[in-house]
Amino acid sequence: MSKLKSIWVFHLNTGACNGCDIEVLDIFTPYYDVERLGVKLVGSPRHAHALLVTGPLTRQCVYAAKRAYEAMPPSPRIVIAVGTCACSGGIFYDSYSIYRVSPRDTLEYPRRGGIEEILPVDIYIPGCPPRPEEILYGLALLKGIVEKRVKQEYQREEEESITLPENITIEERIKLDLRCSLRKIVGYFDRDAILEDFMKLVEKAKDTDNEEAVLHNLVEEYCRKVSDSRIRFCIRFLEKEYWRVRRRYEEMVPSKINIA
Ligand code: SF4
Repeated sequence: MSKLKSIWVFHLNTGACNGCDIEVLDIFTPYYDVERLGVKLVGSPRHAHALLVTGPLTRQCVYAAKRAYEAMPPSPRIVIAVGTCACSGGIFYDSYSIYRVSPRDTLEYPRRGGIEEILPVDIYIPGCPPRPEEILYGLALLKGIVEKRVKQEYQREEEESITLPENITIEERIKLDLRCSLRKIVGYFDRDAILEDFMKLVEKAKDTDNEEAVLHNLVEEYCRKVSDSRIRFCIRFLEKEYWRVRRRYEEMVPSKINIA
């Protein structure tokens, strides 16, 4: 994609609950002022470089989404999926009203059900809803200015004090913590499928001499086999999160940890 000096964006809601739309509008307010990056909201797809889609792809909207895409100038025709719903169907992934041509009966993932069903997506901005900062970051990536002006930084909430689980084992507790963290970056269906795969790798690394290195190699091997960058991102995220959570429990109850 040639570098664009400005991006004119047409916002299309294909069934969103309005949460994502509010965050999208927020980036155009004076506080975030995305127009300073040359991103402008336009009223017609005929004037747009990019289609910014929010919400799962509902059956009612398939025709309108196709028409909007076809109405755009032939190049560069960028599609930006904002929100977990637009990325994978989100919480509505199995709803009857969602348009899906990918197989319903198989457990394929990343789950489809978003705009990807009918249009090629260039940028995925997950989150339910994503924060304005995340949308800005996605747009800055698209414009190719992010390396120049923004350095990558992970932010996390303050570590809250936790009480030890009583009715469940610490192994299960770690899995629940991972599930909870993964919720922030991936859709509900994909989360469980990806976590299941990751826990199999943890199981394989169990009882080896250098568990951390073995798990890392297994993760890398897994990532080489999958072509989807979203899955690779999630698996690597899980690896980091796994050691963080596990060490926290190890400090609390060194004798009880025996998972791997
Ligand atoms: S991702 Fe969340 S906020 Fe956005 S449309 Fe879906 S349910 Fe609503």
